[in-house]
Amino acid sequence: MRLVMFGAPGSGKGTQAERLSTKYNIPQISTGEIFRSLKRGEQIPGMTLSKDVVDEISNIINSGALVPDELTISVLKNRISLPDCKNGFILDGFPRTINQGEVLDKMLSEEGTKIDGVLEINVSDEAIIKRLSGRRTCPACGKTYHITDKLPTEADKEACPEHCANLIQRDDDKEEVIRKRLATYHEVTAKLKPYYEAQGKLVTANGKEKLEDTIAEVDAAMSKIEQ
Ligand code: AMP
Repeated sequence: MRLVMFGAPGSGKGTQAERLSTKYNIPQISTGEIFRSLKRGEQIPGMTLSKDVVDEISNIINSGALVPDELTISVLKNRISLPDCKNGFILDGFPRTINQGEVLDKMLSEEGTKIDGVLEINVSDEAIIKRLSGRRTCPACGKTYHITDKLPTEADKEACPEHCANLIQRDDDKEEVIRKRLATYHEVTAKLKPYYEAQGKLVTANGKEKLEDTIAEVDAAMSKIEQ
């Protein structure tokens, strides 16, 4: 299955992508997480990016704007060419522009494959601001938690002893940056919705306050893609 998760930053795409990745046994690919791993000093296998490019990516992310298409597409293309994507993948945060969506379709059709479905998670901006401003992230492994509920378990701390105990607030989870990220979503990324609707691929789940309610919505929406 080749699935696109679609929705505003903080809509819960990542959490649901992680769960669906286990359910379908296909990798979750988050371009945002790949960019953050570069910020942490990690390398992308098969790609060499200069320090200047990594610094530029960091500055763009911290401002709430989008990384240029050319760079983002080459990072995504490199990632989905890896063997673990042979049977499918879940894209979390890509595409974010019409151009990225078109290039992705072209890339897949050249390989004789396609996107099977696009799962939108619909959440109000106000709920997102509340959610993201309370989000805390492990600076080493990138795992996220929420101050009101999902704090690290003993197992998390054991897996990442120095860091999951010392969570930080991501620069782009500060309220003014969240507002900019949401504006970017509404002005640019939301244009992909009619693009995928026209292809008959879009299904929508309403993100709820309780995780189990969102899971029920997502599973109901996914059953339309699985058919
Ligand atoms: P995310 O974790 O998906 O919210 O991504 C964090 C940041 O990474 C975004 O605010 C963008 O600056 C950048 N980013 C992630 N994915 C993309 C993409 N597909 N196109 C452009 N920028 C991206």
